[in-house]
Amino acid sequence: MSQSQPTVVKCPTCKTDVVWGEQSPYRPFCCKRCQLIDLGEWADEEKAIASAPDMSDTDVWSEDNY
Ligand SMILES: [Zn+2]
Repeated sequence: MSQSQPTVVKCPTCKTDVVWGEQSPYRPFCCKRCQLIDLGEWADEEKAIASAPDMSDTDVWSEDNY
């Protein structure tokens, strides 16, 4: 009853509520994965996949069809 309300923030990456406290070591992110995504480390992996010839070919084709 005497405890103060915990501060809750939203994870910048996935908008999940994150309690601002020791139980959230990656705050303001909800988890390590979201932290990596924000830092761009995750995006680097995605970029490597997106730049693969197969993937861009598929993209161009579907755009042409529309
Ligand atoms: Zn998150």
